Amino acid sequence: MSEAMKIAILGAGAMGSLFGGLLAEAGHDVTLVDIDDAHLDAIRRDGLSLVTDAGERVVRNLRACRPEQAAHAPELLIVFTKTMHTEAALAASRALLGAQTAVLSLQNGLGNVERLERSVPRARIMVGMTTWPADKPGPGRVDSHGAGAIRMMSAAGDTSADSAASASLARIVNALNAAGLQCTADPDVWSAIWEKVAFNAALNSLCAVTQCTVGELSNVPDGETLALKIVAEVAGVARAHGVAVDESHIGETVLHALAHHRAHRPSMLQDVLAGRKTEIESINGAVVAAARAVPIAAPCTETLLHLVRLVEARNSH
Ligand code: NAD
Repeated sequence: MSEAMKIAILGAGAMGSLFGGLLAEAGHDVTLVDIDDAHLDAIRRDGLSLVTDAGERVVRNLRACRPEQAAHAPELLIVFTKTMHTEAALAASRALLGAQTAVLSLQNGLGNVERLERSVPRARIMVGMTTWPADKPGPGRVDSHGAGAIRMMSAAGDTSADSAASASLARIVNALNAAGLQCTADPDVWSAIWEKVAFNAALNSLCAVTQCTVGELSNVPDGETLALKIVAEVAGVARAHGVAVDESHIGETVLHALAHHRAHRPSMLQDVLAGRKTEIESINGAVVAAARAVPIAAPCTETLLHLVRLVEARNSH
């Protein structure tokens, strides 16, 4: 095992609980910080029930508290709120941000570094992308099936010339690997982030507006056509910002999802069905803002942005 680290997870829903549970199982000192009292109470009372391909077990060596109760700064803070809650969560838990605390975001979408940077110097921010999936079926339980990985990097860029920063990155990568999370330090992390944004901008927003499952998007050819148009637009915006993305690979991933993840309801659709706000602003919204900054057009991505905003507005009235 890598040397034990003091770790806090801010936003301990599906992903935060999965990561926190696996890191605690690997022997780290983990605190889950969330505002969901039913989830926190269940973990304090019964432990976290973790269901993965390795089996079902209960993780008991976890602390769980609300943001305002968090009293000690960890060595590593992993932010796993939905993107629209990052700033409020950080504002309510200032004690988690010590002078040496590294802060990692593996949240989806764009703008995560900028949101963290309002509270933490860029030199201590790490950013990345994860393909691990997770669901939270109820309080105190998290499910994750299938394989995943993490690619991450210092938000300040290549840290090899700064030995303290590169040692901190290596230590965090080792801790995530020791927990079985398949982590690589990757200088091309922005390509991975934008490629996932392209995938999500297409499938999340189309499912949120149509209330189709992923597979139902291929019931008529229009669904596939629209999804691939959005992928092409987002890839074009990424390239215009100097980020190399593999558009045909993203397209293949989208087609694979349409064919093989037919019953899947993306998180944006789940949020719409539950009447919650979605991550549309940090996905399609951020892409449209980046397109305007060039400027280039991203008409399908922008139309889906407006439609999801309309759905959210209807839900909030
Ligand atoms: P989730 O809704 O299950 O968890 C978010 C948690 O944040 C909730 O428990 C919520 O109570 C908590 N929260 C909200 N406001 C808070 C606040 N002010 N202070 C503290 N906690 C607060 O979401 P998730 O599915 O775990 O996703 C988290 C992030 O990871 C998102 O950006 C998502 O896009 C990304 N992601 C999700 C998956 C997945 O399979 N679920 C995979 C990869 C990336």
